Amino acid sequence: MTMPIALKGATIHPVIEQQGGFFKVKDFFPTLSKELLDESRSWMEPTFFDRDGGVMLCIQSFVIKTSHHNILIDSCVGNHKERATRPFWNMLNSDRFEKGLAALGLTVNDIDYVMCTHLHGDHVGWNTRLENGRWVPTFPKARYVMADRELAHWMQREKENPASCPWITDSVLPVVAAKREQVVKSDFTFNEQVQLVPTPGHTIDHFSVLVGHKGNDAFITGDMIHSPLQGKYPELGMMADYDSAQAGQSRRKIFDRFCEEPTIMCASHFPAPSTGRVRRWNDGYKFVAVER
Ligand SMILES: [Zn+2]
Repeated sequence: MTMPIALKGATIHPVIEQQGGFFKVKDFFPTLSKELLDESRSWMEPTFFDRDGGVMLCIQSFVIKTSHHNILIDSCVGNHKERATRPFWNMLNSDRFEKGLAALGLTVNDIDYVMCTHLHGDHVGWNTRLENGRWVPTFPKARYVMADRELAHWMQREKENPASCPWITDSVLPVVAAKREQVVKSDFTFNEQVQLVPTPGHTIDHFSVLVGHKGNDAFITGDMIHSPLQGKYPELGMMADYDSAQAGQSRRKIFDRFCEEPTIMCASHFPAPSTGRVRRWNDGYKFVAVER
C-alpha cells in the first residue's frame, strides 16, 4: 500500500483504482511539437511516458482522515459504467477501489464527504453503484460537494446531449436526485483544515483541495495538472481541457504560490506515489521527491 501523508491532525491516503498508459502522448497533448517531445523523453521515459508512447496515468482517489471526518476526494471510474469511447474504462468490474478503502479500515458507510474536483468520468464513477438496476449513491451517509458552475454546466450539457456525457447521467444526476449534493463556490472553506482552491481551465469550475495549515500542508491537484510535462511547460494543454489557456494560468498561479513552500503536492494523475514538492525549473516547474 502507498504510504499516507501525515499532517498535524490529518492524514491523506491514496486509493488507487488503475494505473497505465491509457492515451498516446500525441493524442493526449495535441499541441506538443515533435521537437519538444523528443527533448522531453530523457526525463519523462519510462516513468511518465511508457515504452509504447503512452502517458502513464494513475486513476486514484485520496481519503483525508481527520478527527472529525473521512473525506473522499474524487471517485475514479467506478464499476459497470458504459463508456463506449474509453475501452479501458468501459464496464469496469474491479474490486481494487473497495479493497483500497478496506485497507484503510473503511467501508462505504464511513465516508462523510465526497468532494468532486470536477465532473469528468474518471473522477465521479464511484459516486454511484448499481442496485437492482438503478444507480444509487455508493456512500449512503456522504454529502457530495460540487462547485456550482461545474454542476450547472454539466447538467445543461446532459440535458442537451446526454450521449456526450454518460457519466453525468449515471454518476452525478442520481446523487442530485437523492438530494445528497452540497453545492458550493469553488473557493469554499470547508473547515480550518480543508480549503477548496479554484483552479479553472481543465473544466469550467475545477477546484483543488488544500489540506492542513501553512508550513504543514498538502495540495490535492485534481486535474489542474496531468503530467510533470505540464510543470515544465505550464501552457501545454491536454485533449479534454475546457480552456487550455486558462488551465495554464491556473498552473502558473498555483506553482508560483507553492514553489518555495514545504507543501506536498498530491498530483492525482501522476503515477504512484504521485507526490512531490514543486520547485522552479527555468521558466517552468519540476516536482522533487518527498522523503518520508
Ligand atoms: Zn482525470
